[in-house]
Amino acid sequence: MEALWEKTSDRLRGSLGGACFQTWIAPLRFVGLEGKRVTLAAPNRFFRQWIEERYLNAVRESLSLEAGEKLELALTLQDAKLAANSKSRSPQQELYGGYQADPARSQAPPRMERGITLNSRYTFAEFVVGSGNQFAHAAARAVANQPGEKYNPLFIYGGVGLGKTHLVNAIGHHLLSNRDRRLKVIYLSAEIFMNELISSLRRDRMTEFKDRFRKLDALILDDVQFLAGRERTQEEFFHTFNSLHAERHQIVLTSDKVPRDIPDLEERLRNRFESGLIADVGPPDLETRVAILHKKAAHENITLSPDVALYVAQSVSSNVRELEGSLTRLVALASLRACSITLDFARQALRDLISEKPAKPDIDAIERATADLLHVRLGDLRSKKRTQQIAFCRQVAMYLCRKLTDCSFPTIGDHFARDHSTVIHAYNLIAKRVSDDSAFRQTIEKIERQLKTCSS
Ligand code: ADP
Ligand code: MG
Repeated sequence: MEALWEKTSDRLRGSLGGACFQTWIAPLRFVGLEGKRVTLAAPNRFFRQWIEERYLNAVRESLSLEAGEKLELALTLQDAKLAANSKSRSPQQELYGGYQADPARSQAPPRMERGITLNSRYTFAEFVVGSGNQFAHAAARAVANQPGEKYNPLFIYGGVGLGKTHLVNAIGHHLLSNRDRRLKVIYLSAEIFMNELISSLRRDRMTEFKDRFRKLDALILDDVQFLAGRERTQEEFFHTFNSLHAERHQIVLTSDKVPRDIPDLEERLRNRFESGLIADVGPPDLETRVAILHKKAAHENITLSPDVALYVAQSVSSNVRELEGSLTRLVALASLRACSITLDFARQALRDLISEKPAKPDIDAIERATADLLHVRLGDLRSKKRTQQIAFCRQVAMYLCRKLTDCSFPTIGDHFARDHSTVIHAYNLIAKRVSDDSAFRQTIEKIERQLKTCSS
């Protein structure tokens, strides 16, 4: 059942943001599930109170979402015995300086910079290689075996949930397992890098910051698309990059797009990103999806029958995170109901989660959902009206039409009685804002979710 907590943690990391997650959620330990009650343990009383006041609902809701059932949540304290038990299974390993420590053992809430962690599940051994990720995997292996010598930087890009974070964590684990040399490795997301920079600037600790990030054997920076438009962070990272690179120390980067598509990225940084090897990860094919399911199930000590694995793999094709989500749901439900996972059970359990044939929404449906959620009258979107709110809503609808249907720019233009160049402009504008502004991105995702439930 710990997998339930791991999945919930991943979800919370996304919704709360990396820094907040590392500080407050990562140190919590999963204690158990009894009936519908999940118990988590906090490092101390202060910590527990803080979580109760601020994050209890968020944690309970995410747990319930992952389990597919409403769950209750109880918080206890990690006593000495508990901490000792959970230590060997802890997904958190502190990476700075190549030694490992358990943040839960310290009595004070961990400071943010103590929260740089690798996920213990994300190793090469747990990574399934298939046609979509073969190249990135080979490059990651090469870098793990010969850091700083082969591809520097290694830049891995691809869509969400396709294994970028997993692969670069695997590099980190491999480097740390080197018995001949104690390598200094830091893994962190670009967002946390920025937060640490801000905090060092504020506390006048820039010398320490520089020492810390420049005296490394390898720096792994996840999700560098986050640097878009953050000029001060880009500047600092540029110097960090140069100083590591000059010493032939390894740099590994991930992003959801190629360097040239990251908006507002300084030219000199883009050049650096492009100067090593760029490898993409694509969606897994059916065989890889089946293999991933078997591997994840084995990790949970569960044997998945071939027909169930095939059914789930055929139903969820877009990304591995969703694939795992389906498996987690199956396992959680089967365990709650104390039954075995048969094909019928899987069909029933996943009914709400996946549609047998994912239908694409059409332009009308998108127009309706967008007008509805942005509070604009439906007819206004095709009218000549140009008030700010209507124009904006129209742009969002055009963006979603392009993104979610196979319609061309001119077809979409015809529908809204506009020129195709207007649609292209709208698409670019909204796409940029989606990548720059996380609150806005959530609104768009809400409309997309709405469309998914309508069309399935
Ligand atoms: P990304 O960083 O690209 O958004 P992640 O690395 O977080 O994606 O992967 C999402 C989930 O899918 C993780 O739990 C990861 O372990 C799993 N995953 C992705 N690709 C693979 C793979 N090839 N083999 C095993 N697990 C995978
Ligand atoms: Mg990632």
